[in-house]
Parts: sequence; C-alpha cells; structure tokens
Amino acid sequence: MLSTMQDVPLTVTRILRHGATVHGRSEVVTWTGEGEPHRRSFAEIGERSAQLAHALRDDLGVGRGDRVATLMWNNAEHVEAYFAAPCMGAVLHTLNLRLPSEQLVWIVGHAADRVVLVNGTLLPLLAPLLPRLETVEHVVVVGPGDTSVLDGCRPAVHAYEDLLAGKPTTYDWPELDEREAAAMCYTSGTTGDPKGVVYSHRSIYLHAMQVNLAESMGLTDADITLPVVPMFHVNAWGLPHAVFMTGVGMLMPDRFLQPAPLAEMIETVRPTHAAAVPTIWQGLLAELAQKARDITSLRTVTIGGSACPPAMMRAFEDQYGIRVCHAWGMTETSPLGSLAHPPGGLTPEEEWPYRISQGRFPAGVEARLVGPDGDFKPWDGESAGELEVRGPWIAGAYYGGADGEPERPEDKFSPDGWLRTGDVGVITPDGYLTLTDRAKDVIKSGGEWISSVELENHLMAHDAVAEAAVVAVPDERWGERPLAVVVLAEGGADVTYEELRAFLADRIARWQLPERWTQIGEVPKTSVGKFDKKVLRAQYAARELE
Ligand code: ADP
Repeated sequence: MLSTMQDVPLTVTRILRHGATVHGRSEVVTWTGEGEPHRRSFAEIGERSAQLAHALRDDLGVGRGDRVATLMWNNAEHVEAYFAAPCMGAVLHTLNLRLPSEQLVWIVGHAADRVVLVNGTLLPLLAPLLPRLETVEHVVVVGPGDTSVLDGCRPAVHAYEDLLAGKPTTYDWPELDEREAAAMCYTSGTTGDPKGVVYSHRSIYLHAMQVNLAESMGLTDADITLPVVPMFHVNAWGLPHAVFMTGVGMLMPDRFLQPAPLAEMIETVRPTHAAAVPTIWQGLLAELAQKARDITSLRTVTIGGSACPPAMMRAFEDQYGIRVCHAWGMTETSPLGSLAHPPGGLTPEEEWPYRISQGRFPAGVEARLVGPDGDFKPWDGESAGELEVRGPWIAGAYYGGADGEPERPEDKFSPDGWLRTGDVGVITPDGYLTLTDRAKDVIKSGGEWISSVELENHLMAHDAVAEAAVVAVPDERWGERPLAVVVLAEGGADVTYEELRAFLADRIARWQLPERWTQIGEVPKTSVGKFDKKVLRAQYAARELE
C-alpha cells in the first residue's frame, strides 16, 4: 500500500526559495580585508542567483546536467553559484584551489567542466592552466583582479557583474528530479588519485536538515556562522545549504584565512559558531597568544577533517569559554558522518571521553565495523575494524567521467554497497565512534597496531610541542615502527627527546614508544590543511628526515 502523502521532490531549489523569502533579511557578510565587510541579504542572493542562471543559460549556453566549475574563495558570489547552477538543472563543481596544477587540469577534464567561475585574485593560478583545460568554453571573472593574464586565451572571458547586469531577478526554475546531480566535489587525494563524488538534490537537502538538528550544529537565525572550511571542501560541510533553511547569518572569510585576519574578523563581526580543520584552530590559538583579541562571541566551534587534539579542545574551553564539537566525515559522506555531543545528564568530566571521540552517528548514517577477515565486529568499545557506512547522503559510487559508468572500486565499496571509509576504529554500544587511525596510517609493529593519532594527541598535549605527526617507518625487526616528527612550540626549544619519551611513557604502553624522533619547522599539510603523512613518509625514505 502506498502512502497518501504528497510526493514533493527534495531539491536545492526549495532551499533557495525558502531562504530568499522566509529568511530574506539574513545576511552573508564577506570579509574584504579593508574597511567595512561586504553585506548581502539572502533575498538579494536569491535575486542574483536568478540573474546568474539567466546569464549561464542565455549568454553561455549552459544546459541541463552541464558542469559549472568554481575556483573561488568563500564569499557571497560563491553562494550565488551554489544555488544558480543546481537550481537551473546544471551541476556545480567546486574546484580545490590548493591542488597541484596537474591534478586540477585532470579534474576539470574528467568532470568536463564547460564554465569556470573564478575569483579575480585567483587568475594567476587559473591562467597558466587554461591552454590545457580543453572542455572549458567560458571563464567568468568574479571580483577585482588583473585580467591581462587572460589576454589571448581560448575560452571566452566575461566579467561576472556585467553578465548579471540587467538580467531578470526571478527565474522560472525547472521541476527537477530529486535524484539528479546538483553538485560535485573531488576528494583531495590524500590517499590516492582524486575521485569525483556527485551529490544529488535529495542528498544535499537531507544532509542540510541533519546539519541543522540540535544534535549536529543546531544553529538558529540568532546565530552567525563562520565557515573557515572552504566551500570547495565538501560544500563547506553543508553550511551554505543549511543556513538557507534556517536563516543563520554567514561570515565569509574570502581569501583572508591567516590567523591574524581570522581573529580580527571574529572580533569585528562577532560570529557565534565556526567550522574548520584542527590546523586552522592551532594557528588561531598561537596568534591569540601573541595578540589578544575578543573572540568570545563564539559559542561553539565544529572541528573535524582530522582528529582534533583533546589539548586543543581544552585550550578553547579553558581560555576562551568556547565549546568545541568534534566531528568526523569525508567527501563521500557529504561530509557529516558523526558528531561528538555527549549523552545528557553527565558532569563535565564524565562528558569528556564522549567529546574527544569522533562522536555519535545521526539516524541517517548506518555504520558497521569490518575486521581483517571480513567478519563484523561488535559495538563493544574494544573490537577494532574498518568503518563502513551507508545512508541517503553517503556516496554509492564515484563519477566515471562524461561517458563512463559510475565506478565502484572494491577497496572503496563493499559488495553489498556500503562505503568502505578506510578509517579504523571502535564503536561503543551506544554508537560512539573512536577512530584509532586511517588504515593507511596505522603503524603495524610486530603484529600489533599502534595508533599514530593517539601518540600525536599525547605529544600535542605537551607544552613544548606545537605540532606532532607520527608515521610508520620500516623496521627490520618489527616490520614498522613509529617515527615521531615534532614541531616545537615557542619557548619549547630546550625540551629533549628523552623528556618527550618519558612524557609518553606515562600515558601509553612501553612497546608503543617511538625510538625515532625528528624535529621540523612545520608539518607538511594537504590541500585542505591536514597533516600530509604521505609526504613525511617519502621524506623519511629519501633520508630528508633524520
Ligand atoms: P581526503 O580523503 O582527501 O583527505 P576528506 O576530507 O574526504 O578528504 O577526508 C576524509 C578523511 O579525513 C576521513 O576518512 C578520515 O580519515 C579523516 N577525518 C575526518 N574527520 C576526522 C576526525 N574527526 N578524526 C579523525 N579523522 C578524521
């Protein structure tokens, strides 16, 4: 028997219509680096999205299913593209501007992007690549920049504001199937070649609702959120869509992502929430130690993308009264996979073990742990296995290219369709996930596993250590052993490796203690700001690390 309910498709268009009317007065505030920040209401963004859709269709010939790429910072115009492209039936493809140029060229070709919207300040990055971007027919320059670098380039060049000028501020948005592609994002390739994840209207809609639940980020129109996480990194964790559902204001950092301007914009615009990977917050804490700023408007920050060191969570709470919520996710999971809110009724100290875990799964995410022999591990908080997940905002395949079938590589998808995350961990009976490592980063020493993340977290709790990354290095006797790579904190220069070893010895089993230690100026980072252990392992192999 079928239900009697209306069958209304869940589309990004519904989110846009709602945000631009019901929350029309809410604002996207873009930091400009000088003078007043730029303010644009959701209503204006709705109108300008319609204008952009007219320009894309009528002037540039963009049709249903065509890919419209963005090479942009987090700003109001990027939000306009976020809505215009999917709502007109095209597909928004956010390009990661920190990828090596070879990868960018490959990704644009693989996605067959026809149009690239680019911030003027990023033209020096795009222009040299254009001769190799064979599918790109139009380049749309957004905001100021030196366009002379585009002289003589093959694709047609347009100025964003000129395209929008005089276009109607409403658009007859087409009726879309909720399963159609709305946006795509390539994984940042930390563990291999980039792979394209294609989000549907439905997956974006359901994910945005989850982001808005109190058990997730739980923001209301009294809040302002600061997505430091780039809009090319898994849709800024769903925030641009989520805020149009609820009217939460958004502070956009544009290209000002260094700790000093971040501190300044927080003090000036007073956001109540922010989201970023741990390295951003590490930098901000160091900056605030140098130059005091009032960041107390922040009530909570969501930290994810890699394991959040508990010492950092403590620092935010003890020094600034800001509550950190740790979250786990991936490009393939839209990204919200789990969030670490503790169960109710606990004292702050009792809450702590829950809060430093990767968190609890929302109802939309089913999870299971699979052991090395393919056996399912119990949720007993002790049995470790690879995490597999399933749900309406989890990828079931990768984009196979313009003419290709979707790809389901065996190491990424189980025969029954679950996503193999490549993350290893344990789950408690009440559904809290603790990741011990990425399968590729775990240190396999004499048949036992050592968690690199656990060693890093302990080391980063030492006052003399600013950053610590632990990687597996080959060892004749044990197969692999941990190499501890440390960045010393200001004032930490006197600490010895013996002292750090002794500090660890109080906290972990002796056989896990690293024998090899080295010090560097900065841990290499990936394009989305995570520790790049692939580079560290290669440096060690090339004897660049001693
Ligand atoms: P990439 O795989 O290219 O780094 P993603 O941003 O999709 O790009 O990375 C997802 C991975 O990041 C996860 O599989 C996991 O290994 C790691 N990760 C994300 N959040 C956390 C977290 N809170 N704790 C530990 N690891 C995390």
